[in-house]
Amino acid sequence: MQSYDYIIIGQGIAGTVLSFQLKAEGCRVLVINKTDQNSSSRVAGGLLNPLTGRKIVLSWKAEELFPYLWPFYREMESATKTHFLHPISIYRPYAEIADQNDLSGKSADHRYEPFIENLNAVAEEGIHAPIGGVSMLQSGWADLNPLLDAYRTYLGEDYLEEVFDEQELHHSSEGVKYKGYTAKGIIYAQGKSVAESQYWNWLPFRPVRGEVLMFKSDRELEKIYNKGVFVLPMGNGLYKTGSTYDHADLSNAITEKGKRIITEKLAAFWQLPFELVKHQAGVRPATKDRRPFVGQHPEYSNIYIFGGLGSKGVSLAPYFGAALKSLLLHQKPISEEVSILRYFKS
Ligand SMILES: Cc1cc2nc3c(=O)[nH]c(=O)nc-3n(C[C@H](O)[C@H](O)[C@H](O)COP(=O)(O)OP(=O)(O)OC[C@H]3O[C@@H](n4cnc5c(N)ncnc54)[C@H](O)[C@@H]3O)c2cc1C
Repeated sequence: MQSYDYIIIGQGIAGTVLSFQLKAEGCRVLVINKTDQNSSSRVAGGLLNPLTGRKIVLSWKAEELFPYLWPFYREMESATKTHFLHPISIYRPYAEIADQNDLSGKSADHRYEPFIENLNAVAEEGIHAPIGGVSMLQSGWADLNPLLDAYRTYLGEDYLEEVFDEQELHHSSEGVKYKGYTAKGIIYAQGKSVAESQYWNWLPFRPVRGEVLMFKSDRELEKIYNKGVFVLPMGNGLYKTGSTYDHADLSNAITEKGKRIITEKLAAFWQLPFELVKHQAGVRPATKDRRPFVGQHPEYSNIYIFGGLGSKGVSLAPYFGAALKSLLLHQKPISEEVSILRYFKS
């Protein structure tokens, strides 16, 4: 029998971040994961976008999430000896003059100020933005595939590549046992498929399928552009663009419809020739109230969840992973807005 402090199921961004945080506190952590190239984290754009929505507003909890995530991911870069973090400006073209006026009013709010670089920014050549746009601070993207691969190497023998079989999980007030492993607790961080768990199937999930495209262009742009779809420069003339939102079809299949939606939205501002090179789809582990699911099972004290990160897992994971770590190690309660107890009560 091999003993650990915690077992984590899933090595998407949720399991990766949380296990790193627990290991940094000296915990022994086993991560069980079955690689899926269509998992949400593998397909994601990885955008870190503090100003979002049609009305260009501060994204939920941006003031708390963003100052925390940058140093956190830098620490992960140095621990894994991998470069995956790209702090670059996101440029959001205005749809109408009113957008600029609205944002200009909001910029007086001290919460907006740290995220606005220029309210009258000029787009690079090849981008159609006739009335200008806003360029952001503390924005960018994280290239998740190199991070996930490097972190797996970092875990070494504490990584198990296999499908977790819930029938093999035994738990008591003493802890949990899974095959040849024991631990104080187990954390489900397995993305959309946690909805199939007998311990978590009562939570209101609302998964959303999304498609992304990659294309080549002979122009190197410096910023991320975002209007209806994002376009992010991955380097060497390669760009990622997306995405779509589909609640009905929850397969990983790519579709002509998805491609058409993305390319039509892209054409509204991207004016350079390009050549499509890849098309992918994945399912976001989203929830009905669009808030994460974090916390301890209400009946089984050694079973936990870290999920429901929806369409913003890259910016949410560090902050809420730290919250779950504080619950595990210091019994600090999870805030009500993300705690799963919000559903157990009702
Ligand atoms: C098209 C698209 C674009 C997106 N763009 C962005 C973006 O720009 N910015 C952003 O922040 N977020 C984005 N997201 C959302 C982001 O991908 C998610 O919020 C995040 O990746 C969820 O991470 P996770 O670790 O919870 O789940 P996942 O990434 O799904 O990871 C779960 C892991 O658990 C494994 N697993 C599942 N079941 C088992 C089992 N039984 N046994 C073993 N292993 C198992 C899976 O294979 C996977 O490796 C996007 C998502 C999509 C689909």
